[in-house]
Amino acid sequence: MITWEEITDLQPIASRTIINSINKGRVSHAYLLQGERGTGKRDIALLLAKYLFCLNREGANPCHTCNNCKRIDSGNHPDLHWIEPDGQSIKIEQVRNLQKEFTYSGMESNQKVYVIQDADTLTVNAANRLLKFLEEPSKQTTAIMLTENGHSILSTIRSRCQIIELQPLPPDVMNQRLQDEGVHHLEANLLSALTNNTKEALSLHQDEWFAGARKIVVQLIEMYVQKPEDVYLFIHQQWIPHFKERTEQQMGLDLLLLGFQDILHQHIKEDTTTVLLPKEDAKMERAMMSFSKEQLLFILQLILTAKRKLKQNVQPTLVMEQLALQIQR
Ligand SMILES: [Zn+2]
Repeated sequence: MITWEEITDLQPIASRTIINSINKGRVSHAYLLQGERGTGKRDIALLLAKYLFCLNREGANPCHTCNNCKRIDSGNHPDLHWIEPDGQSIKIEQVRNLQKEFTYSGMESNQKVYVIQDADTLTVNAANRLLKFLEEPSKQTTAIMLTENGHSILSTIRSRCQIIELQPLPPDVMNQRLQDEGVHHLEANLLSALTNNTKEALSLHQDEWFAGARKIVVQLIEMYVQKPEDVYLFIHQQWIPHFKERTEQQMGLDLLLLGFQDILHQHIKEDTTTVLLPKEDAKMERAMMSFSKEQLLFILQLILTAKRKLKQNVQPTLVMEQLALQIQR
């Protein structure tokens, strides 16, 4: 079970801030945790929620064994609400339902906690509705909002939250942790480029879907080099069926970005390590001959733009079709 001591290793500043407010009995009524994927936002939210409900607190830590702690672990605590995007966004109905739940007093105590995951996906209406909720804080209600894009959140909401910045874990620390767990160093390079959450990295490492995703991305890059005229078909036959969910599509583009970055890095400095593509083989040679540095920089921009479009709810098939055509040019 996670403790503040473990969080402190990963996020010393964030964890000190929260422990301090716990020790002073001044837990804020609203937190905004902002940081990249894998920086521990969910773990922190869960630990704080557990602390707030725990019946046998041990300092700033929850006991992890009482009835409340156990119910939180199994996702069954009636006064802890966890809101995630419904499809691409968090809608006003979801906020309305939350408020409805909260007008009944706490089922078990007066304490209530709600966590809003991907808070940047709140629609404008939902955000405004939430704002009213935040403006009249009840003493025993704690809001914990999580986001990768703090700047996409209304300033009126931001100003009502205590903002906690999470730091990215340095890739070499992550890499070492993975190798300690028995992951091959090349695989560790790739995983630490994708996430700085060890648990997430290890689960990717064992995930068949991820192995397939990786293969498809490598094949796609090879196809750009060898048979660019077939890329469009490949996208429809291989890519789209494999990358179904929004998180999967983002992961696909992250992998594609790393692959093209590998080629660029080899151009700039031959003795650098690659993370996705095998470094010393004829394919890498051909890839370097097919794409100039300038083209590669342009391609990286295109992929970043595609990632943004996915976030803005542009239809994923369209995003990939456009990207395929733009890279060919
Ligand atoms: Zn407990």
